[in-house]
Order: sequence, then C-alpha cells, then structure tokens
Amino acid sequence: MTNELQRRELVDPGEPTIVRTPPSSASGASMEVVRASAMGKCFGVRDAIDLALEERFRGRLTVLGDLVHNRQVIERLDAHGVDRASSLDERIETGSVMITAHGTSDRVRDEVRARGYELIDATCPLVEKVHRRARELERDGFHVAVVGKKGHVEVRGLTGDLSEASVVTTEADLEDLRGRARVAFVAQTTETTERFDAMVAAARALLEPDGVEIASIDTTCQPTRDRQAALRELSRSCDLVIVVGDPTSNNSRKLAETARALGVDAHRVGTPADLDPRWFRGRRRCGITAGTSTPDESIDAVEGAIRVIAGAQAGGAIDDAA
Ligand code: SF4
Repeated sequence: MTNELQRRELVDPGEPTIVRTPPSSASGASMEVVRASAMGKCFGVRDAIDLALEERFRGRLTVLGDLVHNRQVIERLDAHGVDRASSLDERIETGSVMITAHGTSDRVRDEVRARGYELIDATCPLVEKVHRRARELERDGFHVAVVGKKGHVEVRGLTGDLSEASVVTTEADLEDLRGRARVAFVAQTTETTERFDAMVAAARALLEPDGVEIASIDTTCQPTRDRQAALRELSRSCDLVIVVGDPTSNNSRKLAETARALGVDAHRVGTPADLDPRWFRGRRRCGITAGTSTPDESIDAVEGAIRVIAGAQAGGAIDDAA
C-alpha cells in the first residue's frame, strides 16, 4: 500500500487526501485507523538507499555522513558491507565514496576525487536545485541566509558552496544580518513553510526600516510540503497521531511536535513494542504518519499492532483500568 502511495506522490503531488482504511477484522473495533496520504521515505532518501544496496557496491562503498537515521536500514547497509565515515580524514578502505541525499559542497566533491576515490553522488535533485538558486542569488549581489538547522549536513553543504553565508535558526540570529545591503533567504529543504515565512516576515520588520533589501525563495521541497499538508489534514480529523520513526530521526520528532502544536495528542514510536495501549483508550480515530527514513515494513508492523490494540479494547480484552 505504501509503495502505491509513494508512486502516486511522484506523479501527482497535488492536494493530499486522507486514505481511510477500514477496521481489519470483525472484532468490533470502534477506533478508525487512517494513514496520512504522504508519509515515510521521500524519493531522495529512498533512491540513495537503493543505490548503496546495489550489488556492484557490496563491500566496496563508504558513505560520507548518515545516509538515513533508522537502525533497521543501517543494519541492512551493514549486512551489505557498506562502511560509514563522518569525514574524509577518517580511515576509508573502499574505492568508492558516496555523498548522501543531503548533498555536499563542490569543494568536498573535488576532495573525494583528489584523494583517488570514485565519487558516487546520491545528492537529491531537489537539494541540488537549492544550491543553484543560492549561487544565483549570490551572483546577483545578495548575502544568502539559510533558514534551517545550524550544523546540519545539508546546510553545511549549501553554505560551503557560497563565498559567505548565514544560517538563521531563531529570530535572534537575524540581528547578525544588520548592516547588509541585500539579504536573500532560502530554506533548508525540510523546513516548514510556516516557519520560513515567519522568519522572512520577522527579517522584513527588523531590517527593512534600516534600508536592507530583502528577497526570499521558499526552497522547502515538495515531498516535505506534502507530508506537512498531510499531517495537518490528519490532525484535523484524528484525536491521536502515531509517528513511526527511529529515536535518532529529527524529522520524526518534528512531525510529532507539529501534530501536538496543531492540538492533537501525538507519540513517536520505533516499533510495535513502543506502543502503550493506554494512549488508545476512548479514541475515535488514530492517524499514522512516518518520518522520511522509516522503512515501509516498520509502518506496516506498527499499524498492525495498533489494530490489534483497538480490536482488543473494543472487545474488552484489555482492562481499561490497567
Ligand atoms: S527531504 Fe526533500 S530534498 Fe531532502 S532528500 Fe527528501 S525529497 Fe530530497
């Protein structure tokens, strides 16, 4: 089911809709379980994982940085003999080095080649697009400010391609832009559009009275926007949201935070064992979403376990006082 949804997302990124799944058995389960129309692995992360798992790279590839924040996927990569290095200065024993979907700067690419490795570039085309837009803005005389997380690999790659750039994570960071003549804002691809717009509005209020020219291009990627729109829809129609994602996945944590900010109770779980039956008591409709690094099998397993809990509670098999 997830594969069908992901294929549809690639050809039809339009207005997300909720896919409602009927109760899976005749158990009399009263809680409806629904999946977000867009969730889980984006095509950029999925293509990078598929590339690393190609047979030609078995035992002869090192990934520079984290390909994905998910323990199960990392175990699959380990079993395939894929190594990891956080920098080129670490000992690398394979002939090929992979750049992840988050991308990197041209300087790092040149260094990979200069050290004699074959460069395998899995940079997502939507990240490449942000690099192009940022370089164009710099050529047009703007100081580029990236709205995103300081130190994130995508942001480091982006700023590394520019002669000078700022990273804006909180409104306090805008103070550092005082005195610039022209400032152009772009977004880390996984930012929320709301946060990007709010930051640009705050920059206008702070800097335009001093004569600073402000420009902006919202470079959040379409899969991220689709997931956020689907989560908003889910939060409107559900009284509980379960986010399937690894504890190390920043993106999964953010999905749970966003759902809570939208006023719905939300929990992040990695596996069915993390589910607490008490969360589901008296719930009318439970929505499921997942981070961009969550494998389909994990989503399926958690959904199955939620249906079992719902069925047991509807049938009175779970003591509500437990
Ligand atoms: S989150 Fe967006 S930009 Fe990043 S890899 Fe996925 S599709 Fe590409």
